[in-house]
Amino acid sequence: MGKDVFVVGAGVIGLSTAIRALEAGLNVTIFAETFPGDKKSIKYTSCWAAANHVSVAATNALLHHLERETLPVFLGLIKEDPLVPVMVRPHRAYSQVFGSDDQKQNDHLSECYSDFRTLKANELPDGVAHGAVFSTVCIDVPRYLPYLMNRFLSGGGRAFRVTLPSLSALLSAKDRPDLVPFPPTSTNTPPSFDPVAIINCTGIGAFSMGDVKDTNVYPTRGEVLIIRAPWISHGLFYFFKDNHMSYIIPRQSGDVILGGTFQVDDWHPVSRPETIRFIKERGIEAYPELLPLSKREMRNIEDLDVVEECVGLRPTRKGGVRAEVTSLHVGAKIFPIVHNYGHGGAGYQSSWGSARLAVELLKSVLE
Ligand SMILES: Cc1cc2nc3c(=O)[nH]c(=O)nc-3n(C[C@H](O)[C@H](O)[C@H](O)COP(=O)(O)OP(=O)(O)OC[C@H]3O[C@@H](n4cnc5c(N)ncnc54)[C@H](O)[C@@H]3O)c2cc1C
Repeated sequence: MGKDVFVVGAGVIGLSTAIRALEAGLNVTIFAETFPGDKKSIKYTSCWAAANHVSVAATNALLHHLERETLPVFLGLIKEDPLVPVMVRPHRAYSQVFGSDDQKQNDHLSECYSDFRTLKANELPDGVAHGAVFSTVCIDVPRYLPYLMNRFLSGGGRAFRVTLPSLSALLSAKDRPDLVPFPPTSTNTPPSFDPVAIINCTGIGAFSMGDVKDTNVYPTRGEVLIIRAPWISHGLFYFFKDNHMSYIIPRQSGDVILGGTFQVDDWHPVSRPETIRFIKERGIEAYPELLPLSKREMRNIEDLDVVEECVGLRPTRKGGVRAEVTSLHVGAKIFPIVHNYGHGGAGYQSSWGSARLAVELLKSVLE
């Protein structure tokens, strides 16, 4: 029987980490307020993500490393199982203006993606000064989260739904709130109060979680639309002169994410009509092909087939991802805590690297 480890959080970071901890021979239990398949909640960023792998880590060495490690894992998943909800698609990056910072990001992307190619002038659409294309993965989030959950449960992991006031509430009979097995049909009995460690994957929840209360954590609010457009077969980041970026990310289901916003320290949990209108207008300006063929000429935003308006809070952190060990004193006992949160807009594309790092930190504590 492996040693008991608790993972708090069932977002992409908690699930990937819990899978890697199981694979390391540990006895893993996940505790979380929200799980894959739940009604979408502002407290659960992973269900709102777009999501693809386009590196944003030109100036962040740790994140760059984690992202780099994650891409081949996704490619391996596709190879192993053609039904996995991840696909490789061409991704284009268009800019209306192209300065020295853009050149740096361009150089960075050319290092990250092996088939990266700068487009020739005659390949660019009207109004675009610079363009590039490369292949990357697109993750169908509503299918990928249940895929991770099933992988964890079928590997022998256990899960409980609970809203925790603090991490230490898991460690004492006096404080522990009621635990509800997940899925509700499972007959799991709650584990002991004596894990060898807790891995903290609470995302934006790390801001308010007792024992953590990390004031370096803040949201970068992302408002996006899900559009039905199964004919779209590539991703696009389109940088306008005024710094707005429209983006398009296709999903296996035929839905397409049209984004979006990056609003720093904005906790507003629902969409704003004026922002939705702006995203639609810029979206069809950047890429009129989002509209059905018969409606393209008129360029009317009302002709977009909108499935859902979405708002998610990217768990951003001053200082970047927190990957470190602290300890928690409960009575006479000391419990190691491995922190794994603060992935901002890069939680999917750094998920497998982050999971590996967290389990390595855990092993170093256990040794
Ligand atoms: C619009 C948008 C687009 C995005 N696009 C991309 C993209 O293209 N590529 C990419 O890599 N990333 C993207 N992201 C970012 C990505 O979604 C996040 O980095 C990632 O989802 C963070 O995952 P997480 O597991 O850390 O947090 P979450 O998914 O929020 O999970 C946190 C977990 O902790 C639990 N929890 C927290 N507090 C408590 C508590 N007190 N008690 C019990 N449980 C608790 C929650 O219930 C939840 O289960 C995007 C995000 C948004 C919003």
